[in-house]
Amino acid sequence: MNLQIIPIGIWGGYPKAGGATSSFLLEYEGFHCLIDCGSGVLASLQNYLPLEKLDAILLTHYHADHIADIGSLQYSRLIQYHLGEPAPVLPIYAPILDTENFIKLSYKERTVGVGVSEEDIVQIGPFTVSFCPTIHPVYCLAIKIEIGERSVVFTADTEWQPKLIPFAQDADLLVSEANLYEKHIGIAPGHMGGSEAGKLAKLAGVKRLLLTHLPLHGEVDEILQAAVRQYKGATEIAQVGKVYKI
Ligand SMILES: [Zn+2]
Repeated sequence: MNLQIIPIGIWGGYPKAGGATSSFLLEYEGFHCLIDCGSGVLASLQNYLPLEKLDAILLTHYHADHIADIGSLQYSRLIQYHLGEPAPVLPIYAPILDTENFIKLSYKERTVGVGVSEEDIVQIGPFTVSFCPTIHPVYCLAIKIEIGERSVVFTADTEWQPKLIPFAQDADLLVSEANLYEKHIGIAPGHMGGSEAGKLAKLAGVKRLLLTHLPLHGEVDEILQAAVRQYKGATEIAQVGKVYKI
């Protein structure tokens, strides 16, 4: 049985017309977990999964481009409930450190926040999930999803930091943010450029690299080329709707 990863959106900050901010759907043996739920995600997700089939959500941090659609998702669960077709209560796993944002994840017994911390190892359906704090203007957690020997690592939003190398070691797939053009590395805080995503993939010895959380300005192919110069393994800009199998 394959673990499937479907990109739902790839943009950082706000979505392109008809697009969505960075988000990924994981599926294994019929269990569906969404990583991040920012602007445009709810619309895009429905191309791949009926909303009532979603089993869990995992949020890396509380910036708007990662949580903007949570409120509408909660409404969808409430409306289904009033229609007499209630889906099970949806757990939303997210950093507990920011209590003001965390309490909003529980809504009318339709969704419930489940707090996670960087030292936790949690079981979400078939997925064993561990965390690594990133360098970002707000508290943010990189995520490692494991099923047996297989692993997928999401950097979430972060500046370059060596701590991510052991965290991503030997992953079957690294999904890295690459929000910066090379000229902006070191100037714009809290994010990485393509060369840094490539360096992380190379030093961690991962088998495959996907780039996400891309800027809306400029030519994102330059970011891909910067990554490819560092990392010789399979590398691409995450393609919305494509099914990546592990
Ligand atoms: Zn962010």
